[in-house]
Amino acid sequence: MSAPIAQPSTISTPPRVLIIGAGINGCGVFRDLCLQGIECLLVDRGDICEGASAAPSRLIHGGIKYLEIGEFRLVRESCIERNRLLRNAPHYVKPLETLVPIRSWLGGLLSSTLRFMGLKVRLNDRGIIITEIGLRLYDFYSHAIKVLPNHRFFNRTKLKHEVPLFDSSIIAAGLYYEGRVTHGERLGLELVLDGLHANPSSQIALYSKVIRTASGRFQLTNHLNDTTSDIEANYIVNAGGAWIDHINHGLGLETHYMGGSKGSHLIVDHPELFNALKGRMIYFGTADGRVNLAYPFFGHVLIGATDIKINHPDEAYCSDEEIDYLLGSIKEIFPTIHIERHHILLTYCGVRPLPSNDNTTMGNVSRDHYMAQDHIPGTTLPLVSLIGGKWTTFRAFADEISHHILSHFGIKRTHKTEDEAIGGGRHYPMTEMEQAEWISKKAELYRCKPSRMEALLHRYGTRAESIATLERDIGYQQLNSAPHYSSTEIIFLCRYEWVNRLADILLRRTEMAMAGHVNLPLIHEIAEIAAAELSWDQDRKHTEIQTAIKEMQRLSIRMAA
Ligand SMILES: Cc1cc2nc3c(=O)[nH]c(=O)nc-3n(C[C@H](O)[C@H](O)[C@H](O)COP(=O)(O)OP(=O)(O)OC[C@H]3O[C@@H](n4cnc5c(N)ncnc54)[C@H](O)[C@@H]3O)c2cc1C
Repeated sequence: MSAPIAQPSTISTPPRVLIIGAGINGCGVFRDLCLQGIECLLVDRGDICEGASAAPSRLIHGGIKYLEIGEFRLVRESCIERNRLLRNAPHYVKPLETLVPIRSWLGGLLSSTLRFMGLKVRLNDRGIIITEIGLRLYDFYSHAIKVLPNHRFFNRTKLKHEVPLFDSSIIAAGLYYEGRVTHGERLGLELVLDGLHANPSSQIALYSKVIRTASGRFQLTNHLNDTTSDIEANYIVNAGGAWIDHINHGLGLETHYMGGSKGSHLIVDHPELFNALKGRMIYFGTADGRVNLAYPFFGHVLIGATDIKINHPDEAYCSDEEIDYLLGSIKEIFPTIHIERHHILLTYCGVRPLPSNDNTTMGNVSRDHYMAQDHIPGTTLPLVSLIGGKWTTFRAFADEISHHILSHFGIKRTHKTEDEAIGGGRHYPMTEMEQAEWISKKAELYRCKPSRMEALLHRYGTRAESIATLERDIGYQQLNSAPHYSSTEIIFLCRYEWVNRLADILLRRTEMAMAGHVNLPLIHEIAEIAAAELSWDQDRKHTEIQTAIKEMQRLSIRMAA
């Protein structure tokens, strides 16, 4: 991409779109536009899905709690998108059985009515009737694409048997189904890979920033190798999440669209809590009127989330108070389970890209998505900022943005994304029987053990075949510090998955950090492989190791022994 700001007379055919921000929304827009034959440049100051998109509760959900603030459109759309993702990305999006503990029959009826009337009332007891109304509506919204069973209830006797450690004031529980994304960072990457496959003239630039110079040109700077180039675009998409206003400022546009709230999660290594969950999520109201969650995650338990107004997204971190609050909330439902700080495997914090607001209760701020349209000052170059939205709804949001851009250029959509499988979700064997057949057939084809093929299928979906091909061609060797990974697998990630930094591998291309597998020998072993593959000299390798260790410390990652 070259030449200065595009005016209508200089629009290239097909037009070029610059997308700033490779979170899930930027990745979604990139894939959608690439599928329509539009040439895109996707830029991020860091890695793919490194911002809020790496820090959610990892639910692919309708968002039942948003019914309480009257977000019916959003909940309906989210239920449909959840069901689509269960079909289109079955390798990473899985059903999640969910229990909502209930402490009364009538709790919440009056406060919900007052909330619907627009009054700010705390809702800290959601009784059987209000839960039944919510779950019925949820079933109704999920009907359009039916992939999950309807809800039902557990009475006190059934609960005593199913969750004996629940607090004795819990008299019943609603049981329904949500989705969870096991490895969202990889799903974002796969959207980008699918986009590049659909339109090889598109490009991505990671660890890079775009600014507008005093002379009005757009400059792309890669801050890993300090190179700068001029770029041209006919349309700009600002998908910078909580950083949208900062990015607009760099483009010469003053906006005040964003009013983010930070949310923290803990992953705890606590077998008693893990066993008490029996594979389910507990989605529970807390004494302070919020809704928190706990569910099994890579053999540990994910607990979340806080919701606290924040001024600058770069200042977000999980504080001691948040840790106390989250651990305290678990005590409300499991009073006999003691979780101490030493059980914490890691903490993470992200900033929700919410619209600017003067709400004191962040839970009341709309989670719907919007676009704000502007022009780069002094030009006719259009820019659209993507405000709000959930991980779950990225496809629908991308569809809307692409539609808007296509209409601007008078181009017809050629490709729909509703039923488009993503990455390793393509031709994914859905049932246990189909998986067993797939594994034995491919193990024979790639001359590996069925257990290896199975591990690759669960980690990469059907893209496992590409890794198995490389392992067959250059050999399979276990990592010394993480024997369920191979050195060839790491080589594959470096070669074909846009790895720039050691932390990209540990935190986003693999689940090593999330699953609690990282230790110092592993960091060094992977650094050796990456250095050879990415031509890092000794200095660069040393820097990468130090930066990765700092990143692990930032996330309070407890290094495995
Ligand atoms: C605590 C929490 C819990 C959540 N839970 C859920 C959930 O369970 N389910 C759900 O559906 N949603 C959930 N969400 C919402 C969801 O995670 C976000 O709405 C979504 O990830 C936003 O994606 P995004 O692409 O808009 O922003 P981001 O993922 O933040 O992406 C913005 C990107 O812009 C880049 N960037 C910033 N500045 C620049 C610059 N100057 N130049 C280039 N790039 C730049 C950043 O590096 C980043 O990659 C949660 C969010 C949070 C914070």
